Amino acid sequence: MFSKLVIATGNEGKYKEFTEIIKHIAGGDFAGEIVFAPDTAKFAVEETGKTYAENAMLKAKAWAEKTGLPCLSDDSGLEVMALGGAPGLFSARIVYGREIDKVAWLLSKMKGVSYRRARFSAALCLCVPCEYTLITEGYCMGNIADFPAGSNGFGYDPVFIPDGHELTFAELPTSLKNDISHRANAFRKMVYLLK
Ligand code: IMP
Repeated sequence: MFSKLVIATGNEGKYKEFTEIIKHIAGGDFAGEIVFAPDTAKFAVEETGKTYAENAMLKAKAWAEKTGLPCLSDDSGLEVMALGGAPGLFSARIVYGREIDKVAWLLSKMKGVSYRRARFSAALCLCVPCEYTLITEGYCMGNIADFPAGSNGFGYDPVFIPDGHELTFAELPTSLKNDISHRANAFRKMVYLLK
């Protein structure tokens, strides 16, 4: 479909995850070459949007303008019901430290809380210069674990137990996460719309 597709993210973990999701859901023909947005330190796109969709669009459009190539981006977060949807849009910035600090922050907020429903949300934006911009959203429901477990993935994966499973995303096989995750579900909708 695309000879070259740029994944507009500075996060290499996300780039790898996207590459696997694209191949798993759309097959090898979706993009001849899947490229990691290069040199992001010199080209940081400020996430000033009020929704995941706005932020995803800011990133995809900026990279499409810079490269002239089709660009795919996402913006995502974890919404915990007992915390009124927090950390949500601020999932990446809730603590200015390492990913592990976010998990500690979340578990401290959830101490003694028995209602542990949560969902991961993602908005994906595909910007094909001079042609179209497409946005889809996807979700993955689950519960917040009592303590962190597992070493796969990134971010809140060690404390998120997706529905239908008893292990966290960080304990489950990566291939399973890439089948049921918020990003996978949003990407499925994108493939459907493109068809
Ligand atoms: P952004 O989409 O790069 O702005 O950041 C979203 C933040 O939400 C990440 O830094 C993670 O902390 C969290 N997040 C989003 N998706 C996932 C996921 O699949 N697993 C774990 N954490 C995630």
